[in-house]
Amino acid sequence: MRQVIVLGAGLAGSFLACRLLRQGCHVTLIDDRAPMSASRVAAGLYNVITGRFGSKTWKAETLLAELDAVLKDPFFQGVSQFIHPIHIYRPFKDVEEYNQWSGWSAEPAYHQLVKFEERPLFPEVIHNPLGGIRILPCGWVNIGGLIDRLQDIFRSNGGVVLQGSIPYDQINMGQKTLTWKGEPLGFDQMICCEGYRIRQNPWFEKLPVQPNKGEILEIESEGLDQLPFVITKKVYMVPGESGRWIVGSTYEHLFDDPGPTEAGRAQIEEQLRLVLKVPYKVVGHRAGIRPTTPNRRPILGSHPQWPFLYTLSGFGTKGMLAAPYCSRLMTAHILEGAEVPEELRITQFKAFRPT
Ligand SMILES: Cc1cc2nc3c(=O)[nH]c(=O)nc-3n(C[C@H](O)[C@H](O)[C@H](O)COP(=O)(O)OP(=O)(O)OC[C@H]3O[C@@H](n4cnc5c(N)ncnc54)[C@H](O)[C@@H]3O)c2cc1C
Repeated sequence: MRQVIVLGAGLAGSFLACRLLRQGCHVTLIDDRAPMSASRVAAGLYNVITGRFGSKTWKAETLLAELDAVLKDPFFQGVSQFIHPIHIYRPFKDVEEYNQWSGWSAEPAYHQLVKFEERPLFPEVIHNPLGGIRILPCGWVNIGGLIDRLQDIFRSNGGVVLQGSIPYDQINMGQKTLTWKGEPLGFDQMICCEGYRIRQNPWFEKLPVQPNKGEILEIESEGLDQLPFVITKKVYMVPGESGRWIVGSTYEHLFDDPGPTEAGRAQIEEQLRLVLKVPYKVVGHRAGIRPTTPNRRPILGSHPQWPFLYTLSGFGTKGMLAAPYCSRLMTAHILEGAEVPEELRITQFKAFRPT
């Protein structure tokens, strides 16, 4: 039986480990459950219209179809309880945006994805004097709950989870062994999915994965109970599972303090007040670090010197939509030699081209 070791059990590693196991591999997953990891902090939105100009996400329909396939797949039983399909409402910021969307919403490319709201919705609760655009096939996910469920599925199908730091100095690539607490584990393939910490991995330290810090608030407000959607307007507001709303986020490439800060909270609250008209109370505050890349795409592929050593990383701000799809591509690449789409290939970066 093929022996595979997966390093890192965030969204990427957890989906990948389950898929490889299902294809008949013996899989060992190593993770230290770091509280700052992006997957443990993320708001979990999946949205196909993003950015300042409201552009359609890369491969929007394909990524949504892959998430839907996971939901319907009996192997991933129990995962659906953590996935909450719900519309996203994006209030117009000015008349120009209103006019743009009035045209775009009628175009075939957007027709199935958005609904034009020409009047304000819930004007007593949120500022949206010009109406907005409702994004239809989207929602949010309790990513922590989802990952724990994926790991339950993984274990109950024979996968092995080892909790602790990855012992990079105990990995012998020549002999294909990793020594864990004195015991050598042989492997045929190893896949590195450490999120922003991939840069501490001696074989992938040259990957252009940049840490990007994000802070998030949790708030309570009675006035929000009636809202049937997520709101995005500078900040996003996501209805959590316990009556708390998640509000985020900040984006920082340069930071000294990786934890929650007063400045981060002030920035989010300043933007929140531009949306919300009702009083609220802040009841939680957390921070995590995203693994971003120059072209905002994940990175898939193998090491030029060690072809059995792979990475699946760089999920940036959109891990929830991209991880189910990219973990499937990666599984097919490792087990069947299937080609990875050009824009995701590790070989686009000079240090990872074969010599
Ligand atoms: C504030 C914030 C909000 C976000 N909101 C959203 C959102 O709404 N929607 C969305 O799609 N995405 C969102 N994201 C991004 C999303 O969280 C990431 O794209 C995704 O979680 C990345 O997953 P990953 O598995 O690649 O990395 P990670 O989540 O970082 O997982 C890596 C894992 O590897 C482990 N690990 C790393 N190094 C070691 C080591 N040396 N030893 C042992 N274990 C190790 C870590 O403990 C971790 O469990 C957000 C991120 C942040 C920070």
